[in-house]
Amino acid sequence: MATSTPVNIPSKMKAWVYGQHGKPEDVLKLESEVDVPDVNDDQVLIKVLAASLNPIDFKRMGGSFKATDSPLPTVAGYDVAAVVVRVGSKVKEFKVGDEVYGDIHEQAHHPKDCGSLAEYTAVDEKVLALKPKNLSFAEAASLPLAVQTAYGGLESAGLSAGKSLLVLGGAGGVGSFIIQLAKHVFGASRVAATSSAGKLELLKTVGADLAIDYKNNKYEDLEEKFDVVFDTVGESSRGIKAVKECGRVETIWPAGPVVPPTFVFVVTSTGSVLSKLNPYLEEGKLKPVIDPKGPFPFSNAIEAFSHLQSGRATGKVAIYPI
Ligand code: NDP
Repeated sequence: MATSTPVNIPSKMKAWVYGQHGKPEDVLKLESEVDVPDVNDDQVLIKVLAASLNPIDFKRMGGSFKATDSPLPTVAGYDVAAVVVRVGSKVKEFKVGDEVYGDIHEQAHHPKDCGSLAEYTAVDEKVLALKPKNLSFAEAASLPLAVQTAYGGLESAGLSAGKSLLVLGGAGGVGSFIIQLAKHVFGASRVAATSSAGKLELLKTVGADLAIDYKNNKYEDLEEKFDVVFDTVGESSRGIKAVKECGRVETIWPAGPVVPPTFVFVVTSTGSVLSKLNPYLEEGKLKPVIDPKGPFPFSNAIEAFSHLQSGRATGKVAIYPI
């Protein structure tokens, strides 16, 4: 039950919806008569201003985790930046007018049918945080799932001050945050990362001490070994050869095959991680990395998906304005 019902919230909205599993270009449709969702007591209704895409969006759409997914039809999208327009009766942290951001599905593989690629969405307050004041909505929307995965994965891998790290896939949505967090939050002594030749400069810009062109170098043959290897691209069979004895290889499902003794991390969305990182974002120690082909306007979501699915995106594919 909502505590207030502002008059200017419509009953219908535009949203990107799919009613069967398949490729975005085949199944994802922009519908204009979708019901604006109700909120539960512990939820807020938000007016979405920006979103970003993640590989899990198209993997889910393709039916990768049907067994745990919500029933179709589904409004796509995990990441959002928005303004609160209605609050449930038990909501404590937020009020109407607050600018917020978050990954709206607490459990990545148990998502709700109500996603972020819509003009409005209903969200549990615990997955949201106040938007960093210095960031635009598009910048804020580019962060949540990727930065939480990077943070959680580094914690799980036991990265701490003075340790070294190799990031496999440093230029992607998750990898670009792993590098920044490792250097500026976890205090890593040395960070190496891989990308193709054209993105090596980006790796350096976000904090890598050593940028490796994976197409022309075998990082597993380096004399230097690392305390932690964080694999975002499904190369754990090579990653285990680059780690020190007693080091740890961490990967994120479903980036690719997992070779023992690699550990697999799966993100849980919580606004508390975003709130913890807000000071670093506001001080400019962590920076959003938005793919230069974007932001894509809301009506061009299919084009945005096609770019992300190429596997060549740099940082995050943002959707703005909505
Ligand atoms: P992106 O689509 O953003 O990754 C694209 C980047 O990957 C490109 O910049 C590309 O760089 C780079 N890349 C591709 N192949 C290689 C390679 N062999 N070596 C180095 N870099 C490479 O993906 P995300 O970062 O958002 O996600 C990565 C994976 O993690 C996905 O499989 C995703 O599903 C999974 N994931 C899992 C989560 C979990 O909780 N378990 C959460 C979030 C993501 P270049 O063009 O230079 O090759």
